[in-house]
Amino acid sequence: MRKPFISGNWKMVGDSQSSVALAKAVAEGSAGIAGERVDVAVIPPFVYLQAVAKAVSSSAIAVGAQDVYFEAKGAFTGEISPAMLKDVGCTYALCGHSERRHVIGESDELVGKKVTAAINGGLLPILCVGELLAERDAGKMEQVVERHLRTGLAGLDAEKMSAVTIAYEPVWAIGTGRTATPQQAQEVHQFVRGLLAKMYSKDLAQETRILYGGSVKPDNARELMAQADVDGLLVGGASLKADDFLKIIQASV
Ligand code: PEP
Repeated sequence: MRKPFISGNWKMVGDSQSSVALAKAVAEGSAGIAGERVDVAVIPPFVYLQAVAKAVSSSAIAVGAQDVYFEAKGAFTGEISPAMLKDVGCTYALCGHSERRHVIGESDELVGKKVTAAINGGLLPILCVGELLAERDAGKMEQVVERHLRTGLAGLDAEKMSAVTIAYEPVWAIGTGRTATPQQAQEVHQFVRGLLAKMYSKDLAQETRILYGGSVKPDNARELMAQADVDGLLVGGASLKADDFLKIIQASV
């Protein structure tokens, strides 16, 4: 059985005080179910990772980074290595979030390198895949998701792949208030699981958690989670309010 996994991407929002307060509120409000019935991760900006990791250290809340670089060390000004993220208490790292792909301009190949480096550095990558609205309207959703998946997982054997969580995030639903319907989410999640079965094995596909992300709110979380292949949620805006995020966590169990 795949344990539900709820993660909150705080994006480039907050300050040191509000980040620690939010982390503590999530840890307190989810005590008793986090770690037991649902895995929970918070994903703050890099500069608040250490303070947030400390604030949740006595809870079951895990901490993730919003990005990671693929080199271990050296002259890569502004970048952060997997070892540095581990050092400050990270368990997870987002790779290929749509804002990195479409605002910062990361290529599919770069995302693939980051996934591999994260695993080799002992982190658990969350590989984000998902199409633009124009791509969906042009009937290219499957083509884009398959390309993101194949290049994101390039070169990974089954053992390494078992460290990966997939997040399906249709770009047209991120931060827009326009959520994919539960049926639309299920359709793509089933497609992703089918691809994983072809690329690896049926067993591995069944074990892999596939999260949905895109305008998840307390009032749509339960219906999304009720879909057979939706194993969790990657939440942006609503994860910045402790009450909303806690309601989403509750809705997943
Ligand atoms: C995200 O940041 O991954 C996300 C899904 O954002 P939002 O929930 O705000 O759409």
